[in-house]
Amino acid sequence: MKNQPNILLVYTGGTIGMVKDVASGALKAFDFTSLLDKIPELRLLDCAIETLSFLEPIDSSNMSPKYWADIANIIADNYTKFDGFVVLHGSDTMSYTASALSFMLENLAKPVILTGSQLPIGDLRTDAKENLITSIQMASLHNDGLPIIREVCLYFEYKLYRGNRTTKLNAEHFEAFESLNYPYLAESGVHLKVNHEYLWKPKPKSKLVLRTSMDADIGVLKLFPGISRPICEAILTSKLIKGLIIETYGSGNATTESWFIDLLKNAIQRGLYIVNVTQCVRGSVNMGQYETSSQLKTIGVISGKDITTEAAIAKMMYLLGVKIAPKDFQFYFETSLRGEIS
Ligand code: ASP
Repeated sequence: MKNQPNILLVYTGGTIGMVKDVASGALKAFDFTSLLDKIPELRLLDCAIETLSFLEPIDSSNMSPKYWADIANIIADNYTKFDGFVVLHGSDTMSYTASALSFMLENLAKPVILTGSQLPIGDLRTDAKENLITSIQMASLHNDGLPIIREVCLYFEYKLYRGNRTTKLNAEHFEAFESLNYPYLAESGVHLKVNHEYLWKPKPKSKLVLRTSMDADIGVLKLFPGISRPICEAILTSKLIKGLIIETYGSGNATTESWFIDLLKNAIQRGLYIVNVTQCVRGSVNMGQYETSSQLKTIGVISGKDITTEAAIAKMMYLLGVKIAPKDFQFYFETSLRGEIS
């Protein structure tokens, strides 16, 4: 890395890139190629910035594995040219994209920081400028010629998080994200304070491997008291899905009704991967702790441990996409690949 790092800023869409038209009051997309003219403060940063934008920026509610692959390809194509990457993204699905990118970019050894904002960049009270400027600063941190951050992160409202540990919890506050099962990686106060012990340490000298194929033939079933047998049956006997994430109660508990357990058991025997993730935002699945989860373990339900649902979805698509052998699926799902589980 040179003394002045090179940062590539990729705009995919979302509120952060919007400005209010003074005459009409309507929000419209901001021309990212003129970013440095619009935000002259960026020139004060001790790094060189280049920008690149999706030809048609999207609201992140329209995010999909195809766009994840586009972002991952942009990073891989520019990997040697830049020291760090900042991806501007709508906040709604940012945690899913951060999770997906963490799996797609194997052996990543440079910062990829996703950020966005709750208010448009042109708004007087915007949170966009701080999020953007500090993300660029975080991506520029280096020591002895090496980047300090070497993983996919999410920066929002003064905190840098491991991306695949985050969840959007607030649609109103500037502090929209949390990482409830893993400490934040850095904090922006008067100084940037990095929690070095929590950073991901990639294998030394490994080459970036790009794996963009994701298989989206999966489902998520959130349990609730009274969930009906025909609906569970429709999902669990469907030939269309290859993997199912069940969101259970507490430490991974579910109804012990025999019809439910039998449906799961038959589906697993037919080759469906079923992963147990808790509905709680903090804590872990621990099958066997209660009687209401013991059978799940016996019949071969995979433990999602303390993974977020967002990361579980991305990981399932990823493991199906790389066509992991059925005998290895459980092992890889239950093993931390990018720091997504404890
Ligand atoms: N709906 C917007 C999006 O996710 C919200 C935002 O930009 O934060 O693209």
